[in-house]
Amino acid sequence: QEDVFKKIVSHCKEYGFVFPSSDIYDGLGAVYDYGQNGVELKNNIKEYWWKSMVLLHENIVGIDSAIFMHPTIWKASGHVDAFNDPLIDNRDSKKRYRADVLIEDQIAKYDEKIEKEVVKARKRFGESFDEAQYMATSPRVLETKQKRDALHERYAAAMQGPDLEALKQIIVDEEIVDPISGTKNWTDVRQFNLMFSTEMGASADGAMKVYLRPETAQGIFVNYLNVQKTGRMKIPFGIAQIGKAFRNEIVARQFIFRMREFEQMEMQFFVKPGTELDWFPKWKQTRMAWHQALGFGAENYRFHDHDKLAHYANAATDIEFRMPFGFKEVEGIHSRTNFDLSQHEKFSGKSIKYFDPQTNESYTPYVIETSIGVDRMFLSIMCHSFEEEKLENGETRTVLKLPAALAPVKLAVMPLVKKDGLPEKAREIIDNLRFHFNCQYDEKDTIGKRYRRQDAIGTPYCVTVDYDTLKDNTVTLRFRDTMEQERVDIARLNSIIEDKVSI
Ligand code: ATP
Repeated sequence: QEDVFKKIVSHCKEYGFVFPSSDIYDGLGAVYDYGQNGVELKNNIKEYWWKSMVLLHENIVGIDSAIFMHPTIWKASGHVDAFNDPLIDNRDSKKRYRADVLIEDQIAKYDEKIEKEVVKARKRFGESFDEAQYMATSPRVLETKQKRDALHERYAAAMQGPDLEALKQIIVDEEIVDPISGTKNWTDVRQFNLMFSTEMGASADGAMKVYLRPETAQGIFVNYLNVQKTGRMKIPFGIAQIGKAFRNEIVARQFIFRMREFEQMEMQFFVKPGTELDWFPKWKQTRMAWHQALGFGAENYRFHDHDKLAHYANAATDIEFRMPFGFKEVEGIHSRTNFDLSQHEKFSGKSIKYFDPQTNESYTPYVIETSIGVDRMFLSIMCHSFEEEKLENGETRTVLKLPAALAPVKLAVMPLVKKDGLPEKAREIIDNLRFHFNCQYDEKDTIGKRYRRQDAIGTPYCVTVDYDTLKDNTVTLRFRDTMEQERVDIARLNSIIEDKVSI
């Protein structure tokens, strides 16, 4: 699985999807650029989200707020005081780690140990193996499970607060070693704020410290009144936004899974207090259905309901997707109560109440949030679509089986040879279709090589123009997934393809 992931990362670079930022200067940690194919895929993901959230919901509208915001917003939201990760350094390797991640990895090790015992026992007992009974009776499994559960409980308690000394003590007691140096020379745990800051303006009194937003949500909360009043929105209603967010992540790993500059697609849904726990499951289901509509298989998704809630939330869940490195969060759905709006009322001194004309009452709305990372979604799509397929002739073809609606290029048009009017005919076909979807012209190398190049970027359709085309206006249409070919009339191309590739 690790190998597959490495292949996906290099495929992303080789085929113009994702490049390390500042590549010719050897990159910048956890910052990435999207290339010519990556930007198309990313735009298609955003369009798929925007259409399903904003265009298909009469009561959801969009905004695009600035990245810079008044610094008091981050005081009000709690980010200045509490948006921290617990840090620990190893004195030998001089490497810095997140204490919580080290402990979570340790918990995962216990899980792996149990899993290994089960696999061994299954081999030993064969057909008659009863997993549930084995789990309940094997002394070895029971002992590991007990250790694991005790650790989990201690960890959950230490993270309340969090209690930094307790976190350190767990690392010491569990004898957790630095994965690089293999030593246990740990410093104390301390808090590290994840927000980037910079300075704005240069007045006589000095510049103002401002932050790069660590989430797009606050831009929605501070515009709540503007949108509600000017759009004459009636509760329940939602505000959606797509935009960049910045976090100074300490442990930046797994490619674009955890970045320092990334993009979020967030929607805050404002509801009447007391109805939020009716809306929460509705949004859980709606968002899961959105993911599953891509056709990657329901077994690759799961909910992870939080038992440990942030102080302002009264329900929270993650939608996790099976990445090559395990099930990982792609989207969070949170019932945020009226925490953010009432904090902004307090800090700004302005009333952010909603007047309900039907009941004649005023209240601060409650909020259900759906928050998904564009880059994580991109990664999950790449991981699921990447295939190395063994062909009948013994060759392997690398193909991205992207959903056609998300593919960067929808149709490649190729003249069989570079002469006798075939290139001109191919260009004529493209000129008629380019306003409907993204087309690419390719005349270099053999047809076989050209097909492979299109397979590697996930182009669902290829058309070959040959001598017969000049006589009867038909072309060979080749399908990416099946590699089947069909002779079709040029006039039919648009209707065959457009329907399948539109979002
Ligand atoms: P994690 O626990 O993985 O750090 P989080 O719970 O802090 O994530 P949220 O604050 O709920 O994440 O953000 C919502 C979504 O934004 C996440 O589900 C994820 O898709 C995306 N996201 C958050 N942090 C990053 C990051 N550093 N890089 C890429 N995407 C991110």
